[in-house]
Amino acid sequence: MTQMLFTHNALDRAAHLRRNPARLDALRHGPDALVAGFWRDLALLRDGRALLAQGNEAARLMELASHVVFLGLHQDRPIFALDLAKMAAEADQSPPQWEKGAVWGELRAIGAALPPEDSTILATGRALVNWHRTHVFCGRCGGPTESREGGHVRVCLDQTCGAQHYPRTDNAVIMLVTDADKVLLHRQPAWAAGMWSILAGFVEPGESFEQAVARETFEETGILVGDIHYAASQPWPFPASLMVGFTARATGGQLVVDRHELEDAQWFSRADIAAHFSDSHRNDGSGRPYLARPGSIARMMLDAWLPG
Ligand SMILES: [Zn+2]
Repeated sequence: MTQMLFTHNALDRAAHLRRNPARLDALRHGPDALVAGFWRDLALLRDGRALLAQGNEAARLMELASHVVFLGLHQDRPIFALDLAKMAAEADQSPPQWEKGAVWGELRAIGAALPPEDSTILATGRALVNWHRTHVFCGRCGGPTESREGGHVRVCLDQTCGAQHYPRTDNAVIMLVTDADKVLLHRQPAWAAGMWSILAGFVEPGESFEQAVARETFEETGILVGDIHYAASQPWPFPASLMVGFTARATGGQLVVDRHELEDAQWFSRADIAAHFSDSHRNDGSGRPYLARPGSIARMMLDAWLPG
């Protein structure tokens, strides 16, 4: 079974170093520093891997950075994520050129093709860099904020305010809803033709995960669920979600698809899926439906259920 994307233990977050600015500064300019660059949410890659620059290349990227975040230690080396938004786009608005062989990639598209540790490092960096870029002003008073603790806090510089802001993580539930030998799958209008997956939705303020599972399932499909159990979780930094996976059992209701949210929802038995779904994880041109791609928590939960 393919490991879930973005869950490799690639980073020792070394949080104790965040509160030591002098040490962090020395690490940042030291010979062991590794840096991952981002430009408008695109990550810098080379030779099919994350481009983790070091030495002279790292120093030159550092000079172009508008935000620097200490991600932790990777194989005992300090690693930093950089927002390279100051680099100008090319005349045709394509991403800026870097050194020979360097390319920019959208992690959502290329994450599964990278080594698992690289995907995890880039997911963490992308989430934090995006958070800095969108929180340069205080949400309480509108004053400017400044990065502290290696980029894990932003502090409002207005002296009467001084609010501390922490990186956002938006909780979303994703649920494998079953009824005996059947699983409830759905399609969203924005998805590639033929792809089906399990239901998901954001947790609302004042709600538990289990309540969100029951509410979202009922709102989107009219199905009532119980027997809700935690299964696994997956960071999904596009831009800041954490997918929290649950299994749930249908206890009543009738399948009525909310067409504002979903294109379709249907029950499928294991035999239906075995007989009619393509093994491919993309539209293979056959017109057959297929399941969410390997590496996603949706697919991991489906693969765990399918053998029966
Ligand atoms: Zn403020």
